[in-house]
Amino acid sequence: MKELILCKYGEIVLKGLNRGGFENELMKNVRRRIKPLGKFDLRSSQSTLYVTPLEEISDMDEVMERLKKVYGITKLCKAIGAEKNVDSIFEVAYSRYEELLRNAESFKVVCKRSDKSFYMTSPELAAELGGRILEKLPHLTVDLFEPEVTIVCEIRSEGAFIHDIASDGAGGIPVGTSGRGLLLLSGGIDSPVAGCMMAKRGVEVSAIHFEAPPYTSERALLKVEKLAKKMSEYCGRISFYTVPFTKIQEEIRNNCPEEFFTLIMRRLMMEIAQRIAEKNGLTALITGESLGQVASQTMAAMVTTDAVCRMPVFRPCIGLDKKEIIDKSYKIGTFEISIEPYEDCCTVFTPKHPKTKPRLEDVEAAQACYDFSELIDEAVNGTRVKNITPY
Ligand code: ATP
Ligand code: MG
Repeated sequence: MKELILCKYGEIVLKGLNRGGFENELMKNVRRRIKPLGKFDLRSSQSTLYVTPLEEISDMDEVMERLKKVYGITKLCKAIGAEKNVDSIFEVAYSRYEELLRNAESFKVVCKRSDKSFYMTSPELAAELGGRILEKLPHLTVDLFEPEVTIVCEIRSEGAFIHDIASDGAGGIPVGTSGRGLLLLSGGIDSPVAGCMMAKRGVEVSAIHFEAPPYTSERALLKVEKLAKKMSEYCGRISFYTVPFTKIQEEIRNNCPEEFFTLIMRRLMMEIAQRIAEKNGLTALITGESLGQVASQTMAAMVTTDAVCRMPVFRPCIGLDKKEIIDKSYKIGTFEISIEPYEDCCTVFTPKHPKTKPRLEDVEAAQACYDFSELIDEAVNGTRVKNITPY
């Protein structure tokens, strides 16, 4: 019998009438992610997506790894199908697990029956299968609490499926079901995490990066692209915008009071980001800010940046400690890239004594020392875009 993968839905199950749309989006995302690995049939039934190879697949482990990064799936496992009768189920289960069982001391069989018309209850089937295994391999004992080997048998309307303990999926809801947002992506630890957190809630994420050559290097930009590529394993395809920001930074430095450098820069970033968002049908901004982490991330500072925003700004890291953000970045695989030591445009002109409790009027007055409108247009028009795909 051929191996297939069962993917269990998470929250999609709760989505009443909209559920079909969520399932379609999930199937689309799954298809894109595994298409390069071979031909598969995808079928959705009883809160489960069945991913069945239509040809010999050389690397089913890689298929699993990719599916573990698709938002909308809570649990997944490789399984083997059997006919819905005890003999067939036992035969399949025994041939799949014999070697493992021979080398183990304890096991248990767990049965789940969503097809209630099956002629045995779940405990009856578990006892029957367990009994037959013990007959063949009498050295084993049944351990319901800490077994070395667990065999799961699911009786579904499509057939019987045998697998071991399911792995955790990425959770969340499918990318593409919650609108489209533009992530301000730096080379740091926080913003990639913020992007993935929003993708986990269904947002299709694009990214925008501000570069300031020659103060920032080509390699710094490559690092950010590498981050976007890593993120795209979770977020799917990412449109990556690069904004030439040097002139703006130089004019801030030449004309504005130093204590407001960072805030003015962040307000101009927000302005340019939303212009790009508006041009491309994106309706929210996303940043990696965390309350109180640095001077520009106090509540008063955020009041001054949000004052220039016409669209919602999502800051999913806002209530997380640095340690919690780092844990998440490890998990999505961006941490190692984020800590590569390249300069960010933010850090090039950092004031020595930034204001932590700025007043909006003061920031506005400081920014008014120079008319940035032409430079903003120039930056928007000079923005380049690139498609980033995961594999
Ligand atoms: P991160 O680790 O995400 O860089 P940070 O703690 O270093 O965050 P800041 O450098 O103050 O914080 O930046 C705050 C947020 O501003 C970032 O999370 C990111 O969303 C955005 N940002 C900063 N620099 C850039 C940049 N060069 N291009 C795009 N967005 C940026
Ligand atoms: Mg940063």
